[in-house]
Amino acid sequence: MIQLTPFPLTCTPYSGESLAGFIVRLAERLCWRDAAALAAAAGLTFPGCSVSRADLTSLAELSQVPVNVLSEMSYHPVERQEHRRFLGGQVHREFLIRHRRFCPHCLGESAYHRAEWDFALLATCPRHAVHILAECPKCQRRIQWKPPCIAKCACGQELADVRAMDASDADVLAAVRILGLATGGDHQWLPGILRSCDGADLVGTSMRLGMFLAGWRPRHSADTLISATTVQLADIVRKGTDCLAACPKDFHLFLRTRLCGAARRRGRYVEQEGIAKAFNDWLAGQVSGTT
Ligand SMILES: [Zn+2]
Ligand SMILES: [Zn+2]
Repeated sequence: MIQLTPFPLTCTPYSGESLAGFIVRLAERLCWRDAAALAAAAGLTFPGCSVSRADLTSLAELSQVPVNVLSEMSYHPVERQEHRRFLGGQVHREFLIRHRRFCPHCLGESAYHRAEWDFALLATCPRHAVHILAECPKCQRRIQWKPPCIAKCACGQELADVRAMDASDADVLAAVRILGLATGGDHQWLPGILRSCDGADLVGTSMRLGMFLAGWRPRHSADTLISATTVQLADIVRKGTDCLAACPKDFHLFLRTRLCGAARRRGRYVEQEGIAKAFNDWLAGQVSGTT
C-alpha cells in the first residue's frame, strides 16, 4: 500500500452523507484522478467499501476524519446475517443499491450524496416532495460514480438543474414511513400489534406486500426494482406502507385476495416461484388462524 501523507486540504462529512459520496468529494477536493484511485490508495475498493467490513484506517489518515465517523457513514455488516448498518438502523443488504440516485433540490442546497438515496425503497424526497432520479435527462444514462463530481453527470449536466417529477402527499408520507422503518425512526404510525416488530423485517414485508398489491410482475425481491420506473416504485412503497398502517384489516384482505388468486393458478404459480408453496401454506395458516 502507498505511504499516505495527509493533505492540508480536506473536507468534512455532512450529516447523512454516504461513505461513497464522501470519497468522491474528497477525491475532487484533493484533485485525484477519480474516487476509485483515491480509494485504492487507501487500500479500499470503490464503491464496494461502503458495504464491506473494510478497514477505513488509511482513509481516516488521508482525510483527517476520525475512523469512527467514517465507519458510521458506511453500511458495514452487523451481527444479523446479510444485514447492514444504515443511518442508525439496519436493513437487509438487498435494499442497499450501488448505482447513484439524487434529488436535484437537495443537491442544489448542498452538493453531497445523501445516504438515504441508496435505500432501494426510497422513491420520493421527503423534504422536497419530488421523485428521486437515477438518470440524466441530457445523456439519458444512469448517473455514475465516475467523475466529474457529485454535482454533475459525466456528460457535464448540472444535476441540480434537472427537473424532477412532483410527488403526491401520499408518496411523501410513504417515503417518511419506509425511511423511518429502515433507520430506526418513528414507528408510531404503525398499529400496536406491529410496533414491537423489527424495522428491517417490516421493510421487507412492506415491499413484498406492495409488490403483490401493485401487481409487480418480476420476482418479489429488491433487485428487480432496478427495472421499475420511479412512479411504479412509489406505488409499491405507498401500497405496502398503507397495508401495514391498516393492519390487520387490510392485511387480512390482502391475504385472502392472494390466496384466492394463487388457488386459481396454482400450478403456474408454484412452477415459477420456488418459495410459492411455502408462502401459500403460510397464507393459508394466516387466513384460517392456524399459524
Ligand atoms: Zn430533496
Ligand atoms: Zn448526463
